[in-house]
Amino acid sequence: MIGIFGGTFDPVHYGHLGLAQAVNRNLNTQRIIFVPLGNPPHRDRPQVSSEARVKMLRAAIQPYDNFEISTLEVDKATPSWTVETLAYFAEQLPDETLCLLMGSDAFRQINEWYEWHTLLDYAHMVVVTRAGVPMDLSDEVAGFLDRHRVESLPEPIADAQGNILLLQTDVPRVSSTQVRHAIEAGEALDRLLPESVEQLIRTNSYYGYQ
Ligand code: ATP
Repeated sequence: MIGIFGGTFDPVHYGHLGLAQAVNRNLNTQRIIFVPLGNPPHRDRPQVSSEARVKMLRAAIQPYDNFEISTLEVDKATPSWTVETLAYFAEQLPDETLCLLMGSDAFRQINEWYEWHTLLDYAHMVVVTRAGVPMDLSDEVAGFLDRHRVESLPEPIADAQGNILLLQTDVPRVSSTQVRHAIEAGEALDRLLPESVEQLIRTNSYYGYQ
């Protein structure tokens, strides 16, 4: 099983790493591929360049043997749609079971994603609860979850896509917004992200670090 984990990672923090570790632990994933977004269609533009976000991500995942990065989306000039990214990986890795990883805040808005109904044609979804985010889903998203929810994901690839697993687990309550605010306020970052990432922020004055 291979996890595909998209995000802005602006910057990467212990919430992202905690989510990936929780999935790894619970699903015994072979690999988790972090896919930084190039040109996020649904949100404000990132605060630093794609190169900077990738550099920080590379430093953050360095200690983990089976975490890796795909620059597929940041290398594209056009907006990146998750469904296209999944189709790409499904084609590249035809013998693997893919699961798309996300936090519950992202899942709440899944019905706004491009061609969201077809996401499950390529992968399972693993939704990790995000501390402080209530699971009050719209009727449309709740119905989608009801139709596809399973209590565990099947190991054999016979059923290689189409299910949603809700993983209730403790992931540190950190957000990139909180990190950027902490930098602005000159606060310590050691409880929010790894030292290697902080070092890059410091030496490159990312996010106006002083
Ligand atoms: P921002 O504060 O800028 O909105 P963010 O912290 O939500 O950023 P993203 O890179 O947008 O970070 O998140 C990528 C994915 O990681 C999303 O699916 C999001 O739900 C998930 N995620 C991020 N932080 C956490 C966390 N602390 N707990 C659970 N999921 C998280």
